[in-house]
Amino acid sequence: MARIFCIANQKGGVGKTTTCVNLAAGLATAGQRVLLIDLDPQGNATMGSGIDKRTLTRSVYHLLVGLATVAEARLRSDAGQYDVIPANRDLAGAEIELVGLERRENRLRDALALHTGEYDFILIDCPPSLSLLTLNGLCIAHGVIIPMQCEYYALEGLSDLVNSIKKVHANLNRDLAIIGLLRVMFDPRVTLQQQVSAQLESHFGDKVFKAIVPRNVRLAEAPSHGLPGVVFDRSAKGAQAYLAFANEMIERIKTL
Ligand code: ATP
Ligand code: MG
Repeated sequence: MARIFCIANQKGGVGKTTTCVNLAAGLATAGQRVLLIDLDPQGNATMGSGIDKRTLTRSVYHLLVGLATVAEARLRSDAGQYDVIPANRDLAGAEIELVGLERRENRLRDALALHTGEYDFILIDCPPSLSLLTLNGLCIAHGVIIPMQCEYYALEGLSDLVNSIKKVHANLNRDLAIIGLLRVMFDPRVTLQQQVSAQLESHFGDKVFKAIVPRNVRLAEAPSHGLPGVVFDRSAKGAQAYLAFANEMIERIKTL
C-alpha cells in the first residue's frame, strides 16, 4: 500500500511545488513507484513535471467531481519517471461545486481507493490555502510534509497549519500526522535563518528533516525546461539536497 503525503503550507511561494516535484523524481530515481497529484489550480506541479496544463482533456478536477476515473485522468511524467494526476484552471471552480456534493472532503480518497496498491508513494501538491481542496488531500494522507523558509513570519503561519492538521486528525482522519518540517531556500549566511533553523530544531526535534535545501537557482530554472530540478541538473546543490531528502523519506517511512 502506498504511503500518502501532502506537501502543505498555507503560505504562498514557500517551495511546496518544488518540493513535491523533486521529491517525486528523487523517489523515482531510487526505484520507488510514485504518483504525484496536483491539487492546485495553478498547475505548477503539472508543468514542472513536463506536462502541459493547457492541453489537458481530463484533470484532477474531473476526478474530484466524478467525471473521470484515475485511469482516465492519470498521465506519465517521462521527465520524472512518475505518474501524475494533473491540474489546471478547471480546478478553480471545483471548490464551489464540491460544497454541494456528498462526502465532499473525501472525494479524493474515494476516487483513489482502488489504486493505492499501485504505488509506494503518493505525493499531493496542495494549494496555498486551507481550502476544501487541501482538506481533500489531508483526508487521504498519512502525513504532512511542511516546507518552510527560515524566517520570522514562517513560525507564525506554522501554528495555524499545525492547528488545522490537529483538527483534521481529530475529526476526519485519525491516520494523519505531521511527518516533518523541511527547511527550504536556506541561506546559511543569513543569521536570522540560522536562528530560526535552530529554533525549529529545539522546538520540533526530530520532526525537522536532516536534509536542508539551499537557495539554488538551478531548482528555479528547471520548471521552464519542463524538468524536475533533480533531473535538470543532478549535480547542483539544490538537486543533491532533494535527493538526500528522498532517501531520508524512504528511511522515515520504515519507522511509521
Ligand atoms: P504556491 O504557494 O504559489 O503554490 P509554492 O509553495 O508551491 O508556491 P514554489 O512554486 O515551489 O512554491 O516556489 C516558489 C518560487 O521559488 C518558484 O519560483 C521556485 O522556482 C522558487 N524556488 C523554490 N525553491 C527554491 C530553491 N531552493 N532555491 C531557489 N528558488 C527556489
Ligand atoms: Mg505550488
